[in-house]
Parts: sequence; structure tokens; C-alpha cells
Amino acid sequence: MIRLRDVSFRYGDGAADGGGGASGGAALRRISFDVPQGGFRWLLGPSGAGKSSLLRLLSLGARPTSGGMDILGSAIEHARRATLARLRQRIGIVHQDFRLLPDLPVFDNVALPLRLQHRPEDEIRDEVEAILSWVGLGARAASRPPQLSGGEQQRVAIARAVIHRPALILADEPTNALDDAQASRLMELFQDLSGLGTTIVVATHNDALIRRYPAHELELAQGRLARDG
Ligand code: ADP
Ligand code: ADP
Repeated sequence: MIRLRDVSFRYGDGAADGGGGASGGAALRRISFDVPQGGFRWLLGPSGAGKSSLLRLLSLGARPTSGGMDILGSAIEHARRATLARLRQRIGIVHQDFRLLPDLPVFDNVALPLRLQHRPEDEIRDEVEAILSWVGLGARAASRPPQLSGGEQQRVAIARAVIHRPALILADEPTNALDDAQASRLMELFQDLSGLGTTIVVATHNDALIRRYPAHELELAQGRLARDG
């Protein structure tokens, strides 16, 4: 499902669309690990350790500077643009800063992954209504993201990340704006999805949540993988 071999990544010219330039130190150094289908991983490490950079590679937002990476069974170093685009549609991402489209209603923000799949509009309406009610935002479908609280925006971001039943979910601090009950509910969703075969990687600093939901940990320290277990 996910397989990294000696993956290094360095920010530089073209990092946003996949290249590694020559400037600066490496954000990730010779990282190797596997996550099987349906695996759940906590991604841990202090600020600057490389968590966001690793999530960026796993979400196909950049290519490794060196090393081998398979995502959803495809070798990324050889993948063409069309293959990457197809793979991205099977990944759900909860960004730390939500990245909602501020001018679109909540409904359309959440519908986006289904519209990219050209699903029929009546099906989209049912799915969006169901997921919005599940995250407690059934009454907010017509609101625009800037009208929502941080916690509500984070729940919209979560809804958008899971609505198309992606094979891989990547989440960067997905509970930092949620209360304890909401965070637990999200973890229960992740456990259910993982049981159904969804592979999930969650970067967090939420120690209470990690203690409450112990799972396999990937710990980064200064760009290196310090623990895998
Ligand atoms: P974490 O998510 O664990 O806080 P990051 O992946 O954000 O760690 O950062 C890892 C390293 O990469 C840090 O040295 C950071 O300064 C650097 N870095 C992160 N983002 C960028 C960027 N867009 N351009 C250049 N360097 C970056
Ligand atoms: P309100 O404050 O309007 O009553 P809440 O924020 O309490 O709404 O959420 C309403 C429902 O949605 C609750 O049952 C809550 O557990 C659930 N919920 C909230 N956030 C999430 C989330 N991130 N994932 C899943 N369910 C959530």
C-alpha cells in the first residue's frame, strides 16, 4: 500500500510540483517503512522533524529527491502525470490549515471529491448531506467557511477528506480544533475505516489521544525515522 525505501527529500526549486533542488538541508533523510492496506499509523515527532514533508510526499504533492516510493501499488518515481492525478483521487487529505475554498458553500467544499469523479448530482446530494450530518454540520451546508468556527472548519475538512471513501487517508493534526468528544469520534471513524481496509496516517501532537488510541507509531527526528513500531 505504502512502501518507502531510502527516501530523501530536500526543498528547493520545483519542490511544489515534485522536484528537489539543491538549496538547504534535507527535510527527510533515507526514510524506509511500509504500511499495509488497512494499516493505521501515528506520525510523531517534534516541530520541524519532517512530518508535514512526509505527508506531502505521501499525498503526491512532491516527489522524493531520491529513493523509491510506492503509493497505492504504483511506483511514484516512474509515474506519469496522469497516473499521479488518478492516484490523488484515491487519497483523502486533512490539511493542518484546512484549505477550504472560502467562496464556496460548505456543501460544495465537501462535494468536491465526488464532483471530480463525475458522480451524479442526486447521489452527491445524498452523500454530502449524510456526511455533514455525521460531523454535526447538517445545518451549515449553505454557509461559507469564513463564517464557521475553527472546529467547524476542521470538521468540513474531515468530511471532504473521507466522503469519496479514499483508499488512503492522510491527516495533519486533524483534531487540533476539535473538543475531546469530537476527537474521539473522529478516531472511532478512523478505526472503522481502517477495519474496512483504508490505510491511514495521522500526524499529531495530541498525547492524550495517542494514549487513548494506541497504535503503531512512526516517529521522526530531524528528518530521520527514529522509530517504526
Ligand atoms: P514538521 O511537520 O514535523 O513540523 P516539516 O516537514 O514542516 O516538519 O519541516 C521539516 C524541515 O523542512 C524543517 O527544517 C523545515 O524548516 C523545512 N521546511 C518545511 N517546509 C518547507 C518549505 N516549504 N520550504 C523549505 N523548507 C521547508
Ligand atoms: P453542536 O456544537 O452544534 O452541538 P457538535 O460540535 O457538538 O455540534 O457536533 C455535533 C455532533 O457531531 C456530535 O455528535 C459530535 O460528536 C459530532 N462530531 C463533531 N465533530 C466530529 C468529527 N470531527 N467527526 C465526527 N463527528 C463529529
